[in-house]
Amino acid sequence: MMGKIVADALPAFLGGRLCLDFVNTVDPREPAGHDFLPAYANLLTWAAAARVLDQRRMRRATAARRATPDEAAKAHAEAIELRETLYRVLRAAVARRPPSRQDSETLAAGAAHLQTRRRIRSTGVHWRWDWAEDDPLRLPCLIILADALDLLTGEEVNRVGVCAGQACGWLFADATKNHSRRWCSMAGCGNRAKTRRHYQRQRHSR
Ligand SMILES: [Zn+2]
Repeated sequence: MMGKIVADALPAFLGGRLCLDFVNTVDPREPAGHDFLPAYANLLTWAAAARVLDQRRMRRATAARRATPDEAAKAHAEAIELRETLYRVLRAAVARRPPSRQDSETLAAGAAHLQTRRRIRSTGVHWRWDWAEDDPLRLPCLIILADALDLLTGEEVNRVGVCAGQACGWLFADATKNHSRRWCSMAGCGNRAKTRRHYQRQRHSR
């Protein structure tokens, strides 16, 4: 995990995209290691750091978590299910194979629900999504899901890669011109691989 934690035990934001950073809240990803989101409160802290919610929505979600802890626990379980579904679906996309039937059904149901929770609104020149405000506990996941659906239905899905580091498996959007990104971070996994190669060369030359 070295080099992948930032302040307050938050995972580093290296995916280059909201939904990928959300998937990268387990380290390593495969086999699943440390979970940065063990409870709803952690999800909220992460969502604030990821700028998923503005301050007003953050306050509303925090108040709802305190007032209805059981609902928060349910919302947390749903968030983890979404995260794991997105991980499997994205891994399938990276491997150029179709997702499992269950995962595509889960995602389709989530997408159908999402459409009932938002309205498109003109702000003059631009447009934006307005979210239903009556379920603040589940808003973070709706916003993450919306980002994931944009990714999956667009060209950028072809740019998603898996870190080549040993014991990592984090996903990233490759923004390099020649599709050459291999690591979640050059300073972390990239550097460790370099050190390992160096060490192996030394051993073989003895
Ligand atoms: Zn990595």
